[in-house]
Amino acid sequence: MSTVSSRCAACKYLRRRCPPDCIFSPYFPSNDPQRFACVHRIYGASNVGKMIQQTSMQMRAQVADSLYFESRCRIQDPVYGCVGIISLLNLQIHNAESELAKVKAQIAFLNSDANREPSSRPQLEGDSNVNNLWPGQSSVEQHWIDSSATRDPSAFV
Ligand SMILES: [Zn+2]
Repeated sequence: MSTVSSRCAACKYLRRRCPPDCIFSPYFPSNDPQRFACVHRIYGASNVGKMIQQTSMQMRAQVADSLYFESRCRIQDPVYGCVGIISLLNLQIHNAESELAKVKAQIAFLNSDANREPSSRPQLEGDSNVNNLWPGQSSVEQHWIDSSATRDPSAFV
């Protein structure tokens, strides 16, 4: 292997000799040049080197991974960066929570209706069509199904 091909991705990119104690070489291997190109474009090589230098040895790999992830997000989404992903996940959590609240409210409604005046209600035995037994419930259930069907599925991507 020649000296040129043993340079790390950062030193290759910066067209310089890769010293044995190169700060970049453990985290920016030569077989992944895109990784360094991303962080250099967003943070600058000098800043990346400083940030890695200021971090303890056991945390440096995570710092390099994090810088790469954040810079890649910033390149893909220049306005929001990784905040865009956080916002999307927050929206998904919010949607799931409101759906859970609806289901809980529906369960509570069905339970309260089932416990009310049991003698006036027809017997369940022998009848397979439960919806016909309580006409008042089917409209609520239908409304709930309609509202979940019209929900935009792309919001969950
Ligand atoms: Zn190097």
